[in-house]
Amino acid sequence: MRIRRRAILRCPLCGAEHRETMPADYCQIVYRCAACGATLRPRPGDCCVYCSYADSLCPPKQRERAAG
Ligand SMILES: [Zn+2]
Repeated sequence: MRIRRRAILRCPLCGAEHRETMPADYCQIVYRCAACGATLRPRPGDCCVYCSYADSLCPPKQRERAAG
C-alpha cells in the first residue's frame, strides 16, 4: 500500500496553506503557522494537526484505515 507523506496544511486562523511532509510514524500534535504565528493543535477527536487541518490523513491513520 502507498502511504502519502505530502500534505497541504491550511491554517484555520489565517488561511495560509503550507506544503509539509508528514512524519511517518507518529502524530504531530503541535504545528506553528509560519504565516501568522499561531500554534495549532488537533481538534477534539483528531489525533494530529494533519487530520484536523490538512488535505490528507496522517500516515498512522492511513495505515489504520488500510488495515480496516
Ligand atoms: Zn496561520
